Amino acid sequence: MSAKPFAVGFRVEHPQELVDTIQYGKMAGRPGLPPADYRLAARAPSGRGIYSFCMCPGGEVIAASSGPGEMPVNGMSAHARNSGFASSGIVAAVTTDDFGTGDVLAGFDMQKTLEARAFRKGGGEFGIPAMNLMAFLRRKDRNLSRGKALCPRVVRANLAGILPPRVEEDIRYGLERFGESMRGFLSQEGTLYGVESRTSSPVRIERENYESVTVKGLYPVGEGAGHAGGIVSSAVDGIRTALHILGKYSGQRTG
Ligand SMILES: Cc1cc2nc3c(=O)[nH]c(=O)nc-3n(C[C@H](O)[C@H](O)[C@H](O)COP(=O)(O)OP(=O)(O)OC[C@H]3O[C@@H](n4cnc5c(N)ncnc54)[C@H](O)[C@@H]3O)c2cc1C
Repeated sequence: MSAKPFAVGFRVEHPQELVDTIQYGKMAGRPGLPPADYRLAARAPSGRGIYSFCMCPGGEVIAASSGPGEMPVNGMSAHARNSGFASSGIVAAVTTDDFGTGDVLAGFDMQKTLEARAFRKGGGEFGIPAMNLMAFLRRKDRNLSRGKALCPRVVRANLAGILPPRVEEDIRYGLERFGESMRGFLSQEGTLYGVESRTSSPVRIERENYESVTVKGLYPVGEGAGHAGGIVSSAVDGIRTALHILGKYSGQRTG
């Protein structure tokens, strides 16, 4: 098993109407136009990549906790994409240099630390901590805008201090650049939610011909094992591995 880079940050949410106006201009609201999406990327002076992740038009912010004392967030759009809100992870790449130690599980430890901070900022009862986007950027107190989050509660909190300081600075830099490429993105109506920390696995279980290099008969597959990211690539990885196993035991090539 080896440590691998992943990405951490916040989830930003805007009214869908605002994103439609930015992306479609005068055509916004025309029948037949789907809720607009976006894809953003920037490179901070530190060299770190900052990018939008899992953009969900007409979707919801999701409390994606899988255990006590942790608050990772994610996003999801139902088929109709009609929640009235658009959200996206705004994340910064983190590498083994950011993990603090050379331990193979150091990325998990980092994830746990950030999620515990977000949990506490959210009040300790699975509330999602949230902050006005401009309050975060200008370091001034501003009210929260209305949003759409699937969780017990949304708690107004200062999100500064959840991420490692260098990562937080790079996220601020990235958000400013995104405001330049999408005029209106930096809006009082924007909300940040914390913490977007499960972008991909912080480890990879090494394999050769789909089989673990250390444990024979074990087939590490999909996102958690570090071989895929997202629904489709995980499914494809599973299908390929299954075909390989079928071929191995039937003695036939299956692709
Ligand atoms: C809210 C949310 C929204 C998302 N939206 C998108 C999206 O729009 N597009 C996209 O591409 N991806 C999205 N993802 C990510 C996507 O869900 C994952 O990338 C994908 O499911 C990974 O597939 P997987 O098969 O590797 O793992 P999983 O789907 O997590 O499957 C692992 C399975 O193993 C089972 N399991 C775990 N431990 C054990 C055990 N000890 N014994 C037996 N079974 C066990 C689990 O119950 C689970 O069924 C989203 C994720 C979340 C949480």
